[in-house]
Amino acid sequence: MPESKISELEGLWLEFTERISETLPEQSFRTWIQPIRPESLDDNTLTLCVPSQFHYEWVDSHYSQKIRGVLGQLIGRDIRLSFKVDSTNGDQPDHHVQAPQPKQRSNTRRSPKPQDVQLNSRYAFDNFVEGDGNSFARAACLAIAEAPGKTPWNPLLIYGGTGLGKTHLLQAIGNHVLKKKKVARVKYVSSERYTQEFIHSVKNNRSTDFSKLYRSAEFLLVDDVQFFSAKGRTQIEFFHTFNSLYQAGKQIILSSDRPVHELKDIDERLISRFQSGLITQISPPDFETRVAIIERRAEEEGIALSLDIAQFFATHIKNNIRELEGALVTLIARATFHRLEPNLELAGQVLQEKIGRPVGKPQIEQIQDVVSKHFKLSGDALRGKSRKQEIALARMVAMALATKLTDHSLKHIGQLFGGRDHSTVIHARNTIHKLMEKDALIRDTCESLCQKLSLSTLPSTKM
Ligand code: ADP
Ligand code: MG
Repeated sequence: MPESKISELEGLWLEFTERISETLPEQSFRTWIQPIRPESLDDNTLTLCVPSQFHYEWVDSHYSQKIRGVLGQLIGRDIRLSFKVDSTNGDQPDHHVQAPQPKQRSNTRRSPKPQDVQLNSRYAFDNFVEGDGNSFARAACLAIAEAPGKTPWNPLLIYGGTGLGKTHLLQAIGNHVLKKKKVARVKYVSSERYTQEFIHSVKNNRSTDFSKLYRSAEFLLVDDVQFFSAKGRTQIEFFHTFNSLYQAGKQIILSSDRPVHELKDIDERLISRFQSGLITQISPPDFETRVAIIERRAEEEGIALSLDIAQFFATHIKNNIRELEGALVTLIARATFHRLEPNLELAGQVLQEKIGRPVGKPQIEQIQDVVSKHFKLSGDALRGKSRKQEIALARMVAMALATKLTDHSLKHIGQLFGGRDHSTVIHARNTIHKLMEKDALIRDTCESLCQKLSLSTLPSTKM
C-alpha cells in the first residue's frame, strides 16, 4: 500500500475517534474504541484490527452501528466493517481493555481549538440521576438552561468533590441550550484549558482575539475554577471577561472542586465575583442514588445487571461516581472476556483491583447502612432505643453481622449501636443464630446480607 494511503486512513481514523469520543462515555471509549486500529479501506469496506475475539464480538454487537454512522458522516457514503483479530500482544484482557492511548492521538485530542464548543453530547439532564446530594444543583442548572438570562442566578457556581457530576451538569446545560436553540454562542472550557489557550495567545500575539472570542459568548461555562489558582495574568484576563459578560447580561456558570472560601491564590476581586450569584453544592450520592446510577449506566451499555451487583458496588464505592462507573465498565469487559454473565464473584475481583488492596472487612457503618436499607429503616432507628419488633430484629441482625464480619470487640460494636452493652451484642448474636436455624426467611436474609457485605467469602484466586 502506498504511504500516502496509510496516512489518509490514519487521518480518517483520527477524525473518527475524535467524533465518536464526543458521543460515548469516556470509560467506554477508552475500553472499546481506543484499542482498535484501522488496517485498510478498500472501496466500501473498512478493515479494523481488534485485540481479541471478545473485543470483536462486543464491538460488533454494541458499537458497529454507531461506528458506521460516524464513518458514514465523515466519508459521505455507507461503509461496511470487517474485523481482524490481532492478538500479537498476548491475550491478557487488561492489556487490551485498557490499552494506553498512543501519544499521537492523545496530543491531537488535546490540542487547543478555540472554535470548538467542546461539548460531549452524552452529558444530558436526561441521564443525570437525581438524588439528595445533587437535586438542588440540578434544578438550578435546568432552570438556567430553560430560561437563559431570565433567572437571577448569575453567576451560578457549583462546587463539590471529584467525580460527583459537576462537568456532567455544566455540559448538560450547554447541550440543552444549543439543542433548544435558546442561545447560539455557548463556550464550555475548563479553567486549565482557558489558561493554556490564554498563554498560547499571548505567545503568538493573539491575546486580543482570545479576549474577543470569550467576550462574545452568550453563555460561558467554566469548569474547575480551582485551576486558576496562582495564574495571576490569566486571572486578570478572566476577571475582565467576567465583567464584560456580566454587564452585558450574559450567563456565566462555574464549577469548583471546593467551596469558594477555600480557593487558594485567587484574586479577591475574582472571589467576590464568584460569590455574587448563586452557589450550590453537590454532595456524594446516597446509596439509592448510587444504585440508580449504576443501573442507568448498565442500561446505556446494554447490559442486564442484577440488583445484587449494583448494590455491591454502591456499598463499597461511595464518594466518586467516576470510580463507580469505572468498576462497572471493567466488570462488563471482564465478564465478556470470560464469556460469563457479570456476577458477584467477578465484581468482587474488580473491586479488589480498583481499590488496590484486598477488600477487607466492611465497616460497621456499612453494615448498618445495608441492613437498615434492607429493612427499610433509617440508620438512626437501628442505633436508637426503639423496641418495636421489626426494628429490634433488624438491629440484632446488624449486630450479629458485625460480630461475624468485623474484628471489632463486642464492647466496641455495642458502642457503635447507640452505646449498648457488650452483653446485648452477645444476646443479639445468639438470638439470630437460633432464629436462623428454624426460620428459612431469616436465614436467607442473613446470608444474602452477609454475601453483599463480605468480600472475604470470595475466592482469592485471580483470573
Ligand atoms: P466531576 O466533574 O464533578 O468531577 P463528572 O461530571 O465528570 O464529575 O462525573 C463523573 C462521571 O459520573 C461522569 O461519567 C458522569 O456522567 C457521571 N455522573 C456523575 N453524577 C451523575 C448522576 N447524578 N447521574 C448519572 N451520572 C452521573
Ligand atoms: Mg469535572
